[in-house]
Amino acid sequence: MRSVEEALEAILASARLTPSEVVPLDRCAGRVPAERRVRAAVDVPPFANSAMDGFALRAADAPGTLRLVGEVAAGAAADVALEPGMAVRIMTGAPLPPGAEAVAPLEIVDEGEGVVTVPEVRVGAHVREAGEDTRAGDEVELPAAPLTPAAVAVLASLGIGEVVVRRRPRVAILSTGDELRAPGESLGPGQIHDANSSSLAAAVADAGGAPILLPRAADDEERIAALLEEACLEADLVVASGGVSVGRYDHVRTVLERLGSLSFWRIRVQPGKPLAFGSLRDRPVVGLPGNPVSALVTFELFVRPLIRAMLGLPGGGRVTLRASPEQRIGKDPERRAYLRVVLRREGDGYVAAAAGGQGSAQLRPLAAANALLVVPEGTDAAEPSVTYDALLTGELQP
Ligand code: AMP
Ligand code: MG
Repeated sequence: MRSVEEALEAILASARLTPSEVVPLDRCAGRVPAERRVRAAVDVPPFANSAMDGFALRAADAPGTLRLVGEVAAGAAADVALEPGMAVRIMTGAPLPPGAEAVAPLEIVDEGEGVVTVPEVRVGAHVREAGEDTRAGDEVELPAAPLTPAAVAVLASLGIGEVVVRRRPRVAILSTGDELRAPGESLGPGQIHDANSSSLAAAVADAGGAPILLPRAADDEERIAALLEEACLEADLVVASGGVSVGRYDHVRTVLERLGSLSFWRIRVQPGKPLAFGSLRDRPVVGLPGNPVSALVTFELFVRPLIRAMLGLPGGGRVTLRASPEQRIGKDPERRAYLRVVLRREGDGYVAAAAGGQGSAQLRPLAAANALLVVPEGTDAAEPSVTYDALLTGELQP
C-alpha cells in the first residue's frame, strides 16, 4: 500500500501540460495564462490626465485668481494651451492641457464670473502621469494562477483583446455499477442514484478541467474496457469510480491490468483505500473508490492536483490551516484520515467540529464540511489536545 505522498508523486509524474489556445479577453477569467510574460505596447495611462474633477493650472500661479479659458472632458482632446494666469475646467480622466502642471479639485476652489480662486497647489497634484502604471516596452508578469478580475483589467488596460491560455484538461468521467440509476429515474430493488457522475463533473470543473460525462456502465468488463479505451482517444485524463476493490465485479482495475498498465491500487488513506492508478493508450487513468465520500475526498487529494499540474499550476490550490478538534474523532490507525469538519475561528486559532458521521457513504457531513482535518497514521483518533493540519476546501463563516 502506498502512502499519500508516494501515490501523489506517481500520479503527478503522469501530468503533461495541455496545449495552449487563444481566447477573447472577456472569456479568459479563471483560465490559466500559457504565456505569463506580456510585453506592453502602450503606456498606461496613455497620456497625463486628471485624477479629480477641478481646474488644471500652472503651479506657479497658485495661490491666486485665474482666468477660466475653457473646459476639457474625459474623451476629449486637450487642445487649448494653458498660458500663465489661466485655468481650464477639467473632468476626471480628461487629458491635461499643454502647459498645465497640476489640478486644483473643485472642493478647494472658489468659482467667480469667469475666474477661479485657488489656494497653493504643488506641481503634479491630482495628475496621473502617462505610463505611471505601466510603460510601453515593460514586461508585465502574470501570476501562475487562474486569471483574476484584476489581471483581466491589467490586460484590458494594455489593449490586449486576446489571451493565450492553457486548454482546459479534458477529463472523462465514468461511473460503474449495476446498481446505479440516473438522478431523476425511479429506483427498483437494490438500486441507488448515481452520485459520482455529477459530483465528479462538478469537481473537475472546479479544478479547472472540462468534464466529459461517459454513459454509466454496468459491471461488465467488456463494456467498461470499451468505454475506457474510447475515452482515452478524446480525454487527457480518465476518472472512473467504483469497481476498483477486490469484489467479484470490480472490473476497472482488471481492465487496466489487462489492456494498459496498473501502477498501484491501494493507498493508506481514509476514506478511500482502494484507488487504482495506471494508464491506458498513454493516458493517465484514475479509478476512484465507488463510495461517494471516498470518491470526492480522493479526487481532492489526487485528481485535483493532477488537473492543475496539466495547467502548470502547483498543488491543489488550497490553504492549509492549523486546527484542533472539538471532540475526539476516531479513525483507523493504519491510515491517514481526512476527517470532514467545520472549521471556525476561535481566539488566535481554529477549532474543528465534526461535520457529522465519518462514514465513507455519508454525504451530508461532507457537504456540510468546509475542511478536511488531516490526522496521521499511527494514531486511532483526532484528539482535542492536539493541533492538526486542516485543508480548507470550503468557505469560513465570518
Ligand atoms: P464499489 O467501489 O463499486 O465497490 O462501490 C462501493 C460502494 O459505493 C457501493 O455501496 C456502491 O453502491 C457505491 N457506489 C459506487 N458507485 C457509486 C455512485 N456512482 N454513486 C453512488 N454510490 C456509488
Ligand atoms: Mg461497484
